[in-house]
Amino acid sequence: MALDAFQNTFAGNPLNRASERRGDAAWLAEKLAASDSLGLAVWNGRPLVETGKDGGVQIAYLRADMARELADNGWERLLFMGLWNETAVFAVDLEGGVDPADGPLQGLGRFEDLRAIALRLPPADAGILATAKSMFEWRRRHRFCAACGQPSEVAEGGWKRVCPSCNAEHFPRTDPVVIMLPVHGDRCMVGRGAAWPKGMFSALAGFLEPGESIEEACARELFEEAGLRATSVRYHSTQPWPYPSSLMIGLIAQVDGDQATPDQTELAEVRWFTRAEARDLLAGKVEGVGAPTLMAIAAQLIKAWAEEAD
Ligand SMILES: [Zn+2]
Repeated sequence: MALDAFQNTFAGNPLNRASERRGDAAWLAEKLAASDSLGLAVWNGRPLVETGKDGGVQIAYLRADMARELADNGWERLLFMGLWNETAVFAVDLEGGVDPADGPLQGLGRFEDLRAIALRLPPADAGILATAKSMFEWRRRHRFCAACGQPSEVAEGGWKRVCPSCNAEHFPRTDPVVIMLPVHGDRCMVGRGAAWPKGMFSALAGFLEPGESIEEACARELFEEAGLRATSVRYHSTQPWPYPSSLMIGLIAQVDGDQATPDQTELAEVRWFTRAEARDLLAGKVEGVGAPTLMAIAAQLIKAWAEEAD
């Protein structure tokens, strides 16, 4: 597919990651101190944002040296995000129970839940914040060496952790998840997760396991959760999903029948919809049945199939 053919929410981070500069400590220090470098703040996973000119929401940038001070002048809670043209962009990870917008960041913005504001952000900002959030979630979960258990140390502008005890290097994770819309004849199937609210339906999903291809994982999940046999699998798009660090791999799967048997462990019930009904579902016009918003790749899969010609 063409690179600009389709972009899910949280994809499209426009920064030049400049990975070749990450190991240059002197350059990073110089950029951190430069008055034209930018910083963005994340507090307990919530980004600092402000109201944009168009009434939407946008990243509330700080000066990079302020981000550095908030990180106590160390790299543990700092991340080099990359370059916007020649401007270096850094992120700082803030934790704790007291809202920094009531303290050192007073008057500079407000911290909001990324998922709640995702569709009101410019797509570029959503992509930048998804990157920062995933990286900080990784850092928070990987402070100790997975090989020997000793505390690890940050390196490469935040993009690597190194164990001073056994020299093991640890890199940020991305966990692949297959998410698929089963279709049979002129209908697609959505399911309600066993833990979801009544009436909430979406595509089916599951983690890719070691030793599996994407299409094998898709077929396995469809059979395990719904008793459906996939006959072919079509790729639609992917979505970085920073909760904490998944990559959602969106698929449309042909199945050989419509007799689903929800496993009741992960999948509680299913519904089949024609294309017209699926369009109504996304528009919120099906009584008693809800679907995800278009922020989620699940909704984009349903939309893509529902808008195809019969
Ligand atoms: Zn170690």
